[in-house]
Amino acid sequence: MPKKRRSGGRAGGAAGKKSVVQCSQCGKLVPRDKAKKVTKYLTLVEPTIAKELRQKGTYIPREKVIKYYCISCAVHRGVVRIRAREERRTTE
Ligand SMILES: [Zn+2]
Repeated sequence: MPKKRRSGGRAGGAAGKKSVVQCSQCGKLVPRDKAKKVTKYLTLVEPTIAKELRQKGTYIPREKVIKYYCISCAVHRGVVRIRAREERRTTE
């Protein structure tokens, strides 16, 4: 059967089954190599004030937030896009 994507929509190459992670939005269980990982840095300081403080050399603490999304939620949120037939065969 022809493959839609070269990678089958997954990372990890010849590795076998991967552990599952939970989607941050819908709670669906997704294989770790198929889920889309999004790293964000959250800070309690407002961006405009933070910029001014940074110029003065103030250290602004920030929190690292890692989120995993299933493909449906990743497409919905704009993390990944639906690509044309030829385009999706090349990369990933
Ligand atoms: Zn989801």
